[in-house]
Amino acid sequence: ARAKMMELIEAPNVTYDDVGGLDSQIQEIRETVELPLTRPELFSSIGIEPPRGVLLYGLPGTGKTLLAKAVAHHARATFIHMSGSELVHKFIGEGAQLVRDIFQMARDKAPSIVFIDEIDAVGSIRTHDGTTGSAEVNRTMMQLLAEMDGFRERGDVKIIAATNRIDILDPALLRPGRFDRIIEIPMPNEVARLKILEIHTKKMKLAGDVDLSSIAKQTEGASGAELKAIAVEAGMNAIRREATVVTMEDFRQAVKKVLGEEEKADESLR
Ligand code: ATP
Repeated sequence: ARAKMMELIEAPNVTYDDVGGLDSQIQEIRETVELPLTRPELFSSIGIEPPRGVLLYGLPGTGKTLLAKAVAHHARATFIHMSGSELVHKFIGEGAQLVRDIFQMARDKAPSIVFIDEIDAVGSIRTHDGTTGSAEVNRTMMQLLAEMDGFRERGDVKIIAATNRIDILDPALLRPGRFDRIIEIPMPNEVARLKILEIHTKKMKLAGDVDLSSIAKQTEGASGAELKAIAVEAGMNAIRREATVVTMEDFRQAVKKVLGEEEKADESLR
């Protein structure tokens, strides 16, 4: 959500091991995005069209961007990240041209993955309701659809789009043939939360009393991004105490700070 309009990474250094609790989603995206990039001959020899792209949907902070970067890493592809909302809100009047430029760059730097964050900002039903700017947003969307339809033959550019609001997406984007798969990225359950905590504490010096399973149990409703924030905050607590290891008490306070404040923020909205 905090992404810049565009960011290009040659081959991101995120791997599937950095993604916790999304095993079946990783499996699905490997088949639809990684395999066509690394083994295109499998598709041509069997005689089917390789998939062109997938849509990931799920709540903020569940790892959609992380997963897209991991795919690019394993496919040794250039990762081009564009933000749908910035395309619409910051580059008014230039959206369609920017989409064209980004896909041109993707072809120049192929094999590549174009990751479109917050695609709902460009392709939402609400942008077609006649409010100001909607004609411009429409042009951006038309350009995006044209690019998606256009790379049927260019096997080495894949698209991964992400949204938190699949409910407001323009049906034109969900039509068969646009995205080959629509993959839900769920909030982590307890097992997944433990995996995510293990990933983010791997390099931390933990005291003997730290029980990650119990933290996973107590963090129902936390996203991957929040679990990472808890690990960082626990580390900060240890630094504040000038301690050399992070204790269970550091984690307890971190959980309270990261998840407790969120509840307060929610209340103030009511
Ligand atoms: P948004 O919709 O807000 O853009 P997102 O789904 O793209 O969110 P990410 O940006 O991938 O979420 O997550 C933010 C950070 O949270 C990641 O860089 C990572 O450190 C951590 N994180 C989120 N989900 C996971 C996960 N499943 N495993 C490990 N870390 C995770």
